[in-house]
Amino acid sequence: MTTPPKHDYYETLGVPRKASAEELRKSYRKLARKYHPDLNPGDKAAEERFKNVQEAYDILSDAKKRQMYDQYGFYSENGFPPGGGAGAGQAQPGMDFSGFDFSDYFKGSAQQSAGGQGHGGGFSDIFSQFFRRGGAPEAAAEEAQKGTDLEYALNIDFWQAIRGTQARISITRHDLCGTCNGTGVASGSAVTCPQCNGTGSVSQMAGAMRFNLACPRCGGKGHLENACPTCHGDGRVPRTETVEIRIPPGAQNGSRLRVPGKGNAGTLGAPAGDLYITTRVEEHPFFHRTGDNIEIRVPITVAEAGLGAKVEVPTIDGRTVLKIPPGTQNGQKFRLREKGVFNSRKNQRGDQIVEASIQVPKVQDERTKEILRELAKLHPEDPRAEIWAKV
Ligand SMILES: [Zn+2]
Ligand SMILES: [Zn+2]
Repeated sequence: MTTPPKHDYYETLGVPRKASAEELRKSYRKLARKYHPDLNPGDKAAEERFKNVQEAYDILSDAKKRQMYDQYGFYSENGFPPGGGAGAGQAQPGMDFSGFDFSDYFKGSAQQSAGGQGHGGGFSDIFSQFFRRGGAPEAAAEEAQKGTDLEYALNIDFWQAIRGTQARISITRHDLCGTCNGTGVASGSAVTCPQCNGTGSVSQMAGAMRFNLACPRCGGKGHLENACPTCHGDGRVPRTETVEIRIPPGAQNGSRLRVPGKGNAGTLGAPAGDLYITTRVEEHPFFHRTGDNIEIRVPITVAEAGLGAKVEVPTIDGRTVLKIPPGTQNGQKFRLREKGVFNSRKNQRGDQIVEASIQVPKVQDERTKEILRELAKLHPEDPRAEIWAKV
């Protein structure tokens, strides 16, 4: 694996690795406001945080930069240019630069450092780390890595989402192996190295170049000695467990809950990843949710629409009376304040929006027809006049 970055950009922004552009932007804005130098005069720590947040957002908000960062754990302005010159002649054991001349980059970076831009972390920094790793005896030492995050979906019904609920879900995660306590080493026989599948090297593509690195796990041997018989040297074992989750009132379709430390275990004692639960909320046949608001279409009669009326309408707390003014049109909407969903984060309720749906009676008897003809005579205006005027 590559050297861990100086900063974990995702951690800096406090977002999961799968965060959408929108989540990134939101988190960035929140943190940038919090640590802005204008708001924290003289606070060096805040200033440093502000710079880190800026840097992280600069990389992660750019799809290309983010991809490179995700793949290699770092981003370099210089990128990985395609093609290359003649032999590098600098290759270290365990590395194959496939004929690329780095000398320019080393020079370039030296100037950069001289210019006082020590913080930039140029291209050569990255490679010098490779070289250092390549030459030093601890090159073979495996690095502890934080466990990966897990994603699960949870289906809940309309009412559970509104009132909140407790749920138990069964997840399968990599947990620390109890036999070897996560080290992967115990009195056991040698096994094929799980990282390089016995080849002793791992390759990584970087732009047009391919790196062949000695496998960091087995140090290039291709096998692990004294591997733990339970986990076969991995240090982790898959385990199915039940996780209790509390869904807060007002949960929305697609909202994510984080359960810290319930992702996969890290290697060599590194912290576990997190578990993310995405809630899927089922639809209700009549109540329709948009955010914290509830929308419902309520049928009303022609007489109620024309003359005005007090009609009973359902809300999520039960029945309530809605006053409909005379001359209500089909599709007209009425707002019932704070009759929507309670949002525990905002500590306030949304509204209910009632849409009037006028029901025309079945006209069969002569008397009703008579009344309607009379009505037509009283209102001879053409309801389509405005359309004709503009077509
Ligand atoms: Zn290996
Ligand atoms: Zn084990």
